[in-house]
Amino acid sequence: MDSQSESFDGYLKEKDIECPNCGEIISIIIDQTIKIQEYTEDCSVCCQAMIIRVNLDDEFNQLSISNETDPF
Ligand SMILES: [Zn+2]
Repeated sequence: MDSQSESFDGYLKEKDIECPNCGEIISIIIDQTIKIQEYTEDCSVCCQAMIIRVNLDDEFNQLSISNETDPF
């Protein structure tokens, strides 16, 4: 059915990423309505912060993770 109803998968996407601090695989939820975003997330395994950078421009679907707290 091609209706206007939005599915969960329509704008929120679950991604498996590797923690840059401990190397464990954890899942994060990405809001795909925001094309370019950068935020910190605490690893559920080692509790250390990581920087999530997302670029969904033109469906590039780029996702990079780093453990640098602040580049400046
Ligand atoms: Zn970790």
